[in-house]
Amino acid sequence: MLPLLLALSASAFAPMLPAPNPMLGSRAAPPEMVLGKAVTWVRQKASCIKQKIGRVVPSREAAPAKFAQGFLEFDPYFDKTNLPKNTFKAKAPFVAKVISTKKISGPKANGETWDVVLSHGGDMPYIEGQSYGVIPPGVNPKNGKPNSVRLYSIASSRYGDDMTGKTTTLCVKRALYWDPELKAFDPAKKGICSNYLCDLKPGDEVLLTGPAGDVMLLPEENPNADIIMLATGTGIAPMRTFLRRLFFEDTPYARDFKGLAWLFFGVYNSDALLYEDEWQTILKKHPGRFRYDKAISEEMKNKDGGNMFVQHKMEEYADEIFDRLEKGAHMYLCGLRGMLPGVQESLKKVAEAKGIDYDEFLKNLKEKGQWHVEVY
Ligand SMILES: Cc1cc2nc3c(=O)[nH]c(=O)nc-3n(C[C@H](O)[C@H](O)[C@H](O)COP(=O)(O)OP(=O)(O)OC[C@H]3O[C@@H](n4cnc5c(N)ncnc54)[C@H](O)[C@@H]3O)c2cc1C
Repeated sequence: MLPLLLALSASAFAPMLPAPNPMLGSRAAPPEMVLGKAVTWVRQKASCIKQKIGRVVPSREAAPAKFAQGFLEFDPYFDKTNLPKNTFKAKAPFVAKVISTKKISGPKANGETWDVVLSHGGDMPYIEGQSYGVIPPGVNPKNGKPNSVRLYSIASSRYGDDMTGKTTTLCVKRALYWDPELKAFDPAKKGICSNYLCDLKPGDEVLLTGPAGDVMLLPEENPNADIIMLATGTGIAPMRTFLRRLFFEDTPYARDFKGLAWLFFGVYNSDALLYEDEWQTILKKHPGRFRYDKAISEEMKNKDGGNMFVQHKMEEYADEIFDRLEKGAHMYLCGLRGMLPGVQESLKKVAEAKGIDYDEFLKNLKEKGQWHVEVY
């Protein structure tokens, strides 16, 4: 039986929604704005914002010619002072166009995951580790108000999968509701925004907010730092942005990077693995610089004979991970909220065995900016 996908109301995420950006003032879209009007209004706004961001993310012309992907770098590339942040808000969203949608989970996965590619034409720049907000059309029947923003971690690097700097990929899981009494999915209770995104067609328009978030950014100021990534399901999205930036693109950070990138990926079964071909390509091209460990819960057993979750796989290497963290590695966790206690527990065990105060250790990691968590 598929697991029960419980309700996570958008309001539960409200505290995590982007804060206003003082850089862009308080100009809001007229309240009566409908999609058609929004397109024109947003294009005008985008051109104004582009001028502001132009200083932030240098234009193609300003690119150092020696890098194939150099035209969207900060100067210097690790200086994130002018990170694009909350450029578009719910009252004046950006209108993006769908380029493609593709189901990327296999038939036996626990639910469908889709790769959704949007065009922003270069007018809604972002960097690796940030999220977009999506405003699904329609009204929330519970309060009669327009549907609220849902956040989605961006799954492409700032250059987009097509390397033009004009597209964004999202990795979206359809939220379905399994009714245990009916022993069937209840279509009336399916997730609004995820199903809207997965059902989009090329050419459709989508209202976006953001880009949001500065918790999951890469430590580019220290290219020797190891990057340890723990993802479950669609939590792979930010990790994909990192790995594309490090191993698929010719950027100044990719050339400077001397650390280890280590991905732990937890999924339900083999059909639920995402972007597997990309991880295999990196393993072949960069052995020694990239490590990849899967935890496939229904197909692998942990050391106690139970289902293998991502924290169990990590625990097999907990000593090494602990050492790397002590030496300055950055730890990234993204995906289902339930992964967090298990990971913490594993690290705590190692700390105790070493006679180290775990709470103090974690506090120290957080203070040094080595601990990055985005769970939902
Ligand atoms: C920072 C951040 C990043 C995120 N990144 C991603 C990402 O990369 N990919 C991704 O797929 N998601 C991501 N999410 C989650 C995403 O924002 C949405 O929460 C998710 O897609 C569900 O939204 P929805 O509109 O489809 O479901 P909603 O309509 O908000 O419903 C939520 C859940 O409640 C259930 N439900 C609806 N009605 C009822 C009812 N009457 N009774 C019981 N249950 C009900 C739905 O089936 C669904 O499971 C992220 C969240 C955050 C905070």
